[in-house]
Amino acid sequence: VRTPLIAGNWKMNFDHLQAIAFVQKLAWTLKDAAHDYDDVEVAIFPPFTDLRSVQTLVQADKLELKYGGQDVSTHVSGAYTGEISAQFLKKLDCDYAIVGHSERRYRHVESDETVAAKAKAARDAELVPLICVGETAKDLERHEPSAVPANQLRGALIDFKAGDDFVVAYEPVWAIGAGAAATPEQAQNVASVLRRVVAQATDEATAQKTRILYGGSVKADNIVGFMKSPDIDGVLVGGASLDVEGFASIVRYKK
Ligand code: 13P
Repeated sequence: VRTPLIAGNWKMNFDHLQAIAFVQKLAWTLKDAAHDYDDVEVAIFPPFTDLRSVQTLVQADKLELKYGGQDVSTHVSGAYTGEISAQFLKKLDCDYAIVGHSERRYRHVESDETVAAKAKAARDAELVPLICVGETAKDLERHEPSAVPANQLRGALIDFKAGDDFVVAYEPVWAIGAGAAATPEQAQNVASVLRRVVAQATDEATAQKTRILYGGSVKADNIVGFMKSPDIDGVLVGGASLDVEGFASIVRYKK
């Protein structure tokens, strides 16, 4: 069985002081609700500059909240101004690193090769890469919905093998920040193809244990449909993860 993962991608929101206030409030809210983190895992992805503060809070209060970086360098160290090494994230007790988010693929022109190298860098530093894939509206005019995401995932997994630990996030670019999400059926159809891609790149057992998330305009009032889909094992939430109450209700989707 795959433990559902509810992940909040803060993108470039909240400085470290705001992050502290947010994490404290989220932890209290979920504690009040007796949230079982083993039943539904919760992870946040704050800006790099917030991570040390988040780590301090998580350690001091023994929180079960997981966290990670929104990106990693393809390199371990060296003359790469502005880059952040996966090893630095590991030192901050990060569990995850997002790689291949569409905002990096398109705004920062990251190729499938770059995303593959980032996924590998994260894995080599013992972080779990959260590999994002998804098609644009333009891709949909020319291809089957699953074609571009499946290709992106094949590219990202080039150095991966059976037993490796990673998470896939299917985020149709047209649904990100759009207010209107994909339907659970649309997301399930692509997720089932992505699970086949994982099986081909690794093996069937790895495909069965790998979590596939949906992302793109997820909110408290549409999460249940996604979580009922057999190949969707969680969500990657952007905008709606910035409100403590809203994010907590997404985390508590079973209630
Ligand atoms: P929204 O939830 O704001 O659509 O963003 C989704 C996303 O890009 C998460 O990584």
